[in-house]
Amino acid sequence: KKLGIALVGLGNYSTNQLAPALQETEKCYLAGVVTGSPPKAEEWKKKYSIPGRNIYSYDTYDQIKDNPDIDIIYVVLPNAMHAEYTIRAAEAGKHVICEKPMATSEEDCARMIEACKRNNRKLSVGYRLHFEPHNQRVMELGQQQVFGKVKKIDGAHSFVVSNDPDRWRLNKKLSGGGPLMDVGIYCVQAACYTTGETPVAVTAKFGEVTRPVYFDEVEQSVSWQLEFPGGAVANGSSSYNENKNFLYGEAEEGWWRLQPAYSYSGIEGRTSKGPMNYPQVNQQARQMDAFAECVLENRESRVPGEMGMRDVRILMAIYEAARTGKRVLI
Ligand code: NAD
Repeated sequence: KKLGIALVGLGNYSTNQLAPALQETEKCYLAGVVTGSPPKAEEWKKKYSIPGRNIYSYDTYDQIKDNPDIDIIYVVLPNAMHAEYTIRAAEAGKHVICEKPMATSEEDCARMIEACKRNNRKLSVGYRLHFEPHNQRVMELGQQQVFGKVKKIDGAHSFVVSNDPDRWRLNKKLSGGGPLMDVGIYCVQAACYTTGETPVAVTAKFGEVTRPVYFDEVEQSVSWQLEFPGGAVANGSSSYNENKNFLYGEAEEGWWRLQPAYSYSGIEGRTSKGPMNYPQVNQQARQMDAFAECVLENRESRVPGEMGMRDVRILMAIYEAARTGKRVLI
């Protein structure tokens, strides 16, 4: 049996990545949607042949508990809404995939994990790169010390926000923060999955604000340095005012580089031994199938809520370090 997934929030990521990916999945399918927009509901219903009974609004959301077609709820809302919609999904008896960043505070992450545990539901975070072959190779190179111990990691993930200053990404209440929360998180994740460790301390600083009309609530850019218990040091940076996308790792006897590292497709990599030859895959399809498998086989996700919470803790430590100028212990 294929498990039914309902997408909550039909914005850019649901529309252009998740719904198409759900046409390629083998263990799950697009069973329903939750949207505040009746025209969108109509459009999705037609386009994906979704039965009317599987279309919900934010007002009818909790009624999903009575719908056996829906096994998994996928929360694809602005960051600050993840906690509430994840907890309500768990209370409705559904397994949950929550987009990154898992929430805007560690306390919210803890409440989400607790709600899923209490309702005996599985929880995972939308960390698609754990299912991407080049990034998986980096995990192996670093964690299995293929080139010896990891010494240094460099990463950046940045893009230029377009000229709509009202976007939720620039609204601190909805986003929880700027580029760090949105895309810098990929570099933090990458440093952790390269080493297989959680950092113990961080220093950081905010960049200059050159477009104050946009960046009056969230940072325009931030850079940081994470210290790992095994001795590796990871430099990261993230900005909403330039385009960057790479991950570099250096070990005692070799190095590797992905560029772009975090995109939906077209990821390219090489190591000190030569080019990496791995296929491009549909990351989201793999990620959702892997979660469906966990539900079907009663296993934990490789990207569980606990990992999402650890990362939010690191993001908050980066903000604290940037704000205070001090080295912050994690
Ligand atoms: P988006 O702005 O395109 O979509 C957000 C959706 O939420 C919209 O449909 C909007 O109508 C709805 N919404 C409901 N209540 C809202 C409110 N109060 N304010 C604003 N919007 C509201 O955003 P997106 O790019 O689809 O991002 C959604 C989530 O997915 C974010 O958490 C983001 O970090 C995550 N995301 C993840 C990836 C990934 O690669 N894993 C990529 C893009 C986005």
